[in-house]
Amino acid sequence: MKLLQETIEQRGTIINEDILKVDSFLNHQIDCDLMEAMGKDFAEHFKDMGITKVVTIESSGIAPAVFTAKELHVPVIFLKKSEPSTMKNPVFTEAFSFTKNKKYTLCMERQFLQEDDNVLFIDDFLANGQAFLSAENLIHQCGAKVAGIGIVIEKSFQKGRSEIEAKGYQIYSLARIKKMAPNHIEWAE
Ligand code: 5GP
Repeated sequence: MKLLQETIEQRGTIINEDILKVDSFLNHQIDCDLMEAMGKDFAEHFKDMGITKVVTIESSGIAPAVFTAKELHVPVIFLKKSEPSTMKNPVFTEAFSFTKNKKYTLCMERQFLQEDDNVLFIDDFLANGQAFLSAENLIHQCGAKVAGIGIVIEKSFQKGRSEIEAKGYQIYSLARIKKMAPNHIEWAE
């Protein structure tokens, strides 16, 4: 997506060859016009796949997931990083944070996904694929199916795509980074 690539080039910061900071439009301050355009792009790509729910992980996946779900006219569920005392029937899974380099637990209320649900997973970044694999575990614990994966920024030089594709899933990424160097991003494709 050209608009996203331009925004990353103009407003993103390359922290090092592995980590990109995009807190001026996605991870802290949110550019709603850009989110809307991304939501339309994801929805157009997945519109014929019978999506019934969009699932993401708090907090940075929520904005793109909401704009996508709005276009598809389905609910969005965000997986939580701490268990609220009000949860009635939670399901849990272990996850590993790429940016914090530590384990954490994800949970969700079981009743929000049923066996006939066809899930679109949306996230802000794809690095090694751990976030998706943890979400997949929760989705499967509820008996639902993953129909597709939409990623805002894929770092194609990390192993996430190949690990996830090896499991038979389709990934659609709006921007794919082949390589990062100080002040320069090389795009895949
Ligand atoms: P994975 O689980 O695929 O290894 O990493 C994906 C998750 O780690 C995303 O949900 C995102 O929060 C975080 N992440 C991975 N790479 C980056 C990055 O370069 N920049 C930022 N801001 N977050 C990242």
